[in-house]
Amino acid sequence: RDAIRERHADAREELVPDDPARHYIGGEWVESASGETFETRDPTTGEVLAEAQAGTGEDIDRAVEAAWAAYDSEWSGADPTKRQRVLTGIADRIEEHRSDLATLETLDNGKPIREARADVALVADQFRYFAGAVRTHGGETVPTDDRKTIQTIREPYGVVGAVVPWNFPLLIAAWKLAPALAAGNCVVLKPAEETPLSVLELVRLVDDVLPDGVVNVVTGYGAEAGAPLTEHPEVRKVSFTGSTAVGREVMKAAAENITDVTLELGGKSPVVVFPDADIEQAVRVMMLAMFYNTGECCTAGTRLFVHEEVYEEFMDAFVESAQGLQMGDPLSKDTRLGPKVSEEQVERTLSYVEQAREDGARVVTGGGQPEDEALADGCFVVPTVIDEIDHDSDPVQEEIFGPVEEVFAWSDYDEMIERANDVEYGLAAGVITQDLSKANRTARDIEAGNIWVNQYNDFPAGQPFGGYKHSGIGREQAKETLDHYSQTKTINMRL
Ligand code: NAD
Repeated sequence: RDAIRERHADAREELVPDDPARHYIGGEWVESASGETFETRDPTTGEVLAEAQAGTGEDIDRAVEAAWAAYDSEWSGADPTKRQRVLTGIADRIEEHRSDLATLETLDNGKPIREARADVALVADQFRYFAGAVRTHGGETVPTDDRKTIQTIREPYGVVGAVVPWNFPLLIAAWKLAPALAAGNCVVLKPAEETPLSVLELVRLVDDVLPDGVVNVVTGYGAEAGAPLTEHPEVRKVSFTGSTAVGREVMKAAAENITDVTLELGGKSPVVVFPDADIEQAVRVMMLAMFYNTGECCTAGTRLFVHEEVYEEFMDAFVESAQGLQMGDPLSKDTRLGPKVSEEQVERTLSYVEQAREDGARVVTGGGQPEDEALADGCFVVPTVIDEIDHDSDPVQEEIFGPVEEVFAWSDYDEMIERANDVEYGLAAGVITQDLSKANRTARDIEAGNIWVNQYNDFPAGQPFGGYKHSGIGREQAKETLDHYSQTKTINMRL
């Protein structure tokens, strides 16, 4: 316990400045108009990591104004080659500082350092991808007679408001910043109150690469800083990742302002194991599908449908692997399962497990916090596997957002698919089988935006990502994303 505290204190001293973190507005570091701050904590030790500014509508107004000023003065007219150079410069800077960025992310969020490093590599690649894609993003000429010419061009919206959650603080910020900037917009971004530090560090690192005001970061709580941003009449495009409940509010505000929205919301994704699956492979995939990022993935494969012929064999191997997951200090490179982001999230996860128990479900393994004294300060929850659970119950229908797998045996394909689709969400799904015809059929039968076959949680830039049903609107991290951050102008000329 002391060793963990010491290691985190050292990392904090090296990477987190003593001063309260400030908003980044118009290229300057500023305090909140209200003078209020809030604490962000290290979920491994419970210690305060930093004070951050508690932004309100006044700070958002200032940031939106700075973003418009930057847009009008230089960014909107910037040649795509300039935007490409800036994005490439950001990617270079991220790669130069990847180790510090990953450590800071682990301190603030609690994710294992090996996963934080993987995130940072994807963050850099996101900027590289859009640096390239912007050079191909043009309009078209429309067939007409020879006395006219009709062409379309893609123009930016102007100022984009982006709100991101705490589970992938830097990566999801990059999913919004890179395409928004590539398409020629300026951005005001609000990170989650649990994890404001890595995005602030990113803008500090690229301060000399980005013209002032092109990216602005205002920290604070959802209701006080997030809502004024998503409701702002001068914000022309809103991009939000978070819960479906808040997404609904964001969309209502967008309806008032007639603003385009991208929404990446919750998930309760099914994974289907066929009887011909290679069991070892299936277990490996499920470790990634369920326990990656401590189960705090919107895509987590939380509802597992295993064919009854292989149910016992699979469960024995899966439970053994879950019990063997290395839980511990997320700064250690051997750790596979870190703490959850906050006490509040621990309570939320465990209350769902409790409810499942009360409903008569079987908790096969886990269901609580570790007994290891060394982890007593942290927000840890042990890997949990539940079966014999009612598919209509709340713990199955709602997002738990922790390391909790719910397993169902199946025998009839059509019944299984009906159940797999019987939730409000449709973000992702997995299929594990040796038979690609079955994989293809299942991939088509499941209502979800992203299907992985014999793997899971793989997010290369260029692969569209987004949800069906209540999991959202729009697609991120792909070429079509540039369309979501720009609008078509048609120019019809008589010659
Ligand atoms: P949340 O919706 O409570 O918060 C997300 C962000 O929205 C935070 O920055 C928060 O401060 C802000 N916010 C809160 N209330 C707001 C309001 N009224 N107006 C504007 N902004 C507001 O979600 P959370 O608990 O922080 O994150 C977990 C959720 O995010 C889960 O439901 C998860 O599935 C979802 N998520 C989805 C994706 C995806 O790509 N689909 C990715 C990651 C997380």
